[in-house]
Formats: sequence, C-alpha cells, structure tokens
Amino acid sequence: MLKIRFLVISIVIVIFLVVAAYSVGLHHGRTGEDLAVANVAVAAQTKSSASSVPASKERDVYFPNTEPLGSDEMRVIALGTGTLNFRRSQASAAWLVELGNGEKFIFDIGTGSLANFGALEIPFTYLYKIFISHLHVDHIGDLDAMFIGGWVSNRNGPLKVWGPSGLKPVTGTKYAVDRMREMFTWDLKGRIGNMPAAGGRIEVTEFDHSKTHVVYEKNGVKIKAWPAVHGIDGSVSYSLEWNGLKLVYGGDSVPNKWFLAEGHDADILIHEAYLSIQQFIDLKDYDPERARIVATMVHTPHSEAGKIFSQLRPRMAIAYHTFNDFNIAPDIIAGIRKTYDGPLTLADDLLIWNVTKDRIRVRRIEGNDEPFPPPPPFPLDPVDPSLRTELSDWLNGGRVDFSR
Ligand SMILES: [Zn+2]
Ligand SMILES: [Zn+2]
Repeated sequence: MLKIRFLVISIVIVIFLVVAAYSVGLHHGRTGEDLAVANVAVAAQTKSSASSVPASKERDVYFPNTEPLGSDEMRVIALGTGTLNFRRSQASAAWLVELGNGEKFIFDIGTGSLANFGALEIPFTYLYKIFISHLHVDHIGDLDAMFIGGWVSNRNGPLKVWGPSGLKPVTGTKYAVDRMREMFTWDLKGRIGNMPAAGGRIEVTEFDHSKTHVVYEKNGVKIKAWPAVHGIDGSVSYSLEWNGLKLVYGGDSVPNKWFLAEGHDADILIHEAYLSIQQFIDLKDYDPERARIVATMVHTPHSEAGKIFSQLRPRMAIAYHTFNDFNIAPDIIAGIRKTYDGPLTLADDLLIWNVTKDRIRVRRIEGNDEPFPPPPPFPLDPVDPSLRTELSDWLNGGRVDFSR
C-alpha cells in the first residue's frame, strides 16, 4: 500500500516538474520572442521615420566649408553671445560676417570666442578685420589669442583693428592694443625670425567715438559707427551695408537716440537683451542699488530691447549678451515679446543666419571641436632668420643633446 502511495506521489511530482519546466521554457521563449518582435518594430519604425523624410527637406544644421556662399548672400555667425560671466556654454561677445564678395568682418572678439572661430576651420589669413565696440574684456578678451594664435595658425598679414577713441588717449583703442602688444613682448620675440614676419604685426585705426560717421568704406562695403552709452565715454555701435543688405550691431549700451536713428531698415539687427533688475539680484546676488545701476544705466534689459526691436522693425532681430539657459531664456523672450512681435532669435553660440534679399535662414552650426589650423590658401612669406632673438650662450649651455 505504501509502495503504491509512494509511486503515485512520485508520478505527481514528476508530472509537476515537467509541467513547471515546460512553463518556464515557454515563458522564456515568449520573452525572447517578444524581444525579437519589439526589435523588428523598432527597426520598422526607424525605417519608416527615415523614409518619411522627404528628399528635398532642408537640414537645420550648417556644416562649415560644405556650402558655397552666394555672391549676393551675407552670412552672420554668432561666435560669442554671452557676457562677462565666463562659462563654457556661451563665449563672450563675438560675431563674424561673411560677404558674398569674399570679405569677412569680425565684430568684437570676447573671451572664449576663439575656440568657436577655430570650429569653423576658416583660414586665419581671412580673419583679420576686427571692429571693436568697446574695450570691456568680454568684447576684446580673445584679441590677444587672435593676434598671436592667428599668426601661428598661418595668418600671413597684419591683424587690423578698428575701434573707438576715449575721452583721453589712455582710454582709446590704440592705447589698449599697443599695450597688449607690449604685454606679449616675450612671446613675440621668441617667434619673430622663426615665422613669416607680416603675421606678427597688428595695426589700429582709432576713430572718434562721439561722431556718427563712416569708419570703413572699400569694395562696396560701408561700415558706420555711432556713440553708445555704456560705462564711460568710448563705446560705439556699428552698421555694415553691402549689396543692399544692412547689418546693425549694438555694442553694450542703454537705449540711446543714436541707435534708434541709425538702426532702421536692418536686415539683421543684433542687440543686447540683458537681465532685469530683479534678475541681477536673484541670479548674480547683486544688491538692489548695484542691480539698478547695471540694469538701467549701463545695459539694456530684455524688456527694453523689445522696445528697440519694435521701433526699428528689422527683418530679423537677434538678442544676445544674455543668458540662454533653459530656465532663463523663456523670461528673456517674454520680456522682449511684451512689445515686439516680429522675427526674433535668442542667440546662442554657433548659430548662423544666411541672409539674402528674399530670405533669412537660421541654423545651428556643427563645427569641429578638435580642429587644426587650416592650411594657408596661398604660400606663406619666407622667414627672415636675421630677426631671430637667439638664446644666450649661458642658457644654451644648459641643453642636453640626446640626438647622439
Ligand atoms: Zn561692456
Ligand atoms: Zn559686454
């Protein structure tokens, strides 16, 4: 009897184990099957979304050196859209304007911007005309890097700088650039005689900051400057006119009558849209009085930038010299939109605007984060070794020769 009971129990256990093993196997099988089905679904979805992009759809990304510049076209490139608040996400003020006639103009060259210039892989010998709005470090901080770095990167001629006078010579552009060159005396002496000499020069054209006047006119390009109200006397804004297109570039300033007089009929109008008094207090820990001075007596807050845009009605307004953070940008835009409902870009580093009479197209630039200097477009000048500064015999005697 016991044997029969044992046998029945054993059979039941065996049946249970077989069923359990089958169930587990089936379960695993289903999982694998489900996964396979899911993979196919993803593949199908990917295929279907890829094939749903029309062949003619324009990309919203610009890859440098892959598109010819139209002979009637202007490219405006943001290389620094930030402020004195140095950060990786936005370099300080710097803009590049490329014209269909082959010329290139730089407006301001703030700290951190040169890496963005490098990302475009434009031969440095073409990047030599720089127009400075004022001498704050966030507008000239990379001038030294462009001067010497551009020379080492195959610029085969002098760097040329235009900028405003001050009330006295010591607050003018010439004084600043001459002293910058003196500051790098040791650096320059080590290179002169080892590199083509022309790239090691820098030329300054200082103009009267208090006048509205043409400061550059050549080859169909006219650049005008006029006073800006910012810090101390000696800040300006610019316009560039070429081929029926007009770009207006506002250096830092409170709203002023000269800008409203000269900023009309712009295809592109670039202006600061800085923080409100309360944002200076909240974001930068300014005390209320300092916040009031900076927001109302030195810079243009975003809500007032909107009033400038709404008065001047450009084809495209570009707000910069601000914070494009995800949690600040909506307030900047809302401030501008209180009064301005026209075309607007809140600028970010490495955005490009392609401008023709018919169209303004905005895209993000996909540049090279690890560039080497582009080769010179034509042969460099010969080096004159007679200009070289040799090591002293004493220091040279300390060398260890591992070549033998
Ligand atoms: Zn400034
Ligand atoms: Zn500034």
